[in-house]
Amino acid sequence: MSQRRKFIKQSLLGSALLIPGLSTLEAQATPVKKAAGTKPIILSTWNHGIPANADAWAKLKETGSLLDAVEAGVRNTELDLENLSVGLQGLPDREGITTLDASIMLGDGSCGSVAFVRQVKHPISLARAVMEKTPHVMLAGEGARQFAIAQGFPMEKEKLSPKAQVEYDKWKVTSQYKPIINVENHDTIGMIGLDASGKLAGSCTTSGLAYKMHGRIGDSPIIGAGLFVDDEVGAATATGLGESIIRICGSFLIVELMRQGRSPQAACEEAVRRLVAKNKNIKDIQAGFLAINKDGEVGAYAVHPGFNYAQATESGNVLIDAASHFKA
Ligand code: ASP
Repeated sequence: MSQRRKFIKQSLLGSALLIPGLSTLEAQATPVKKAAGTKPIILSTWNHGIPANADAWAKLKETGSLLDAVEAGVRNTELDLENLSVGLQGLPDREGITTLDASIMLGDGSCGSVAFVRQVKHPISLARAVMEKTPHVMLAGEGARQFAIAQGFPMEKEKLSPKAQVEYDKWKVTSQYKPIINVENHDTIGMIGLDASGKLAGSCTTSGLAYKMHGRIGDSPIIGAGLFVDDEVGAATATGLGESIIRICGSFLIVELMRQGRSPQAACEEAVRRLVAKNKNIKDIQAGFLAINKDGEVGAYAVHPGFNYAQATESGNVLIDAASHFKA
């Protein structure tokens, strides 16, 4: 387990937080698997899903807007200085530059995303601006940055966070050209939610793979790969090695499998099965999926053990361990 993961686990276990609108936070894994029929419900990937869900829940209660909620939730993670996989404090590419990817989607098909964007603290809000203020779905690189400036987003200094700098300096000693993939070095936040009226929305934001090639874009900003939402069926999001997820169009695949009648759990399992079949070196690849259908049933599954997610409902905000294709 990475030091960072250990730290988060310890700090969560060491405290009981009160979340507005939620009862006492239970931070340990629980056997609760499904929340069938529970609305509203907000789900997000990894331990950082707990504080993200809390912010999303508070926003949902405040504005009644699920879109506001899924944006506010992952903005929390984008500011989390402990997180080396989301936001400008994330680990850089091999040139030492941090570039961010994010997407947001509503169940009516509205969506927006940004990829390979620099100096923007909240790429999720920029993705929302692409959705709401342009005729496009996706902006990348310098164009995305120019759009951010035009929209009044502040430009942050290009300086690695102290933690990222230490890690990057260590990495430079070997500077392995191929990205180092293991089950620990990716922690994208993907969030999906269902509101009381049965509408769905989702968001996904990441600094991507550590030490990626400059210009590399992962699954997170690609609608259908890192995130897909359809009010007729459900929603899905992904975390893990983006290339493996793009190859099977992971989130879209899960929603389509649910449309054909599979449960969210069965759909996630089939997506992992296909991912395992279509990717070489699978022992070095971690990927996990999280899904919900319009009835509020939840599914989650990963290639390797270790993937977990946070689930917020009226009765609490809990961390749940997902099952995996390969066993410990
Ligand atoms: N999915 C992200 C990407 O490939 C990485 C991650 O989940 O941390 O960019």
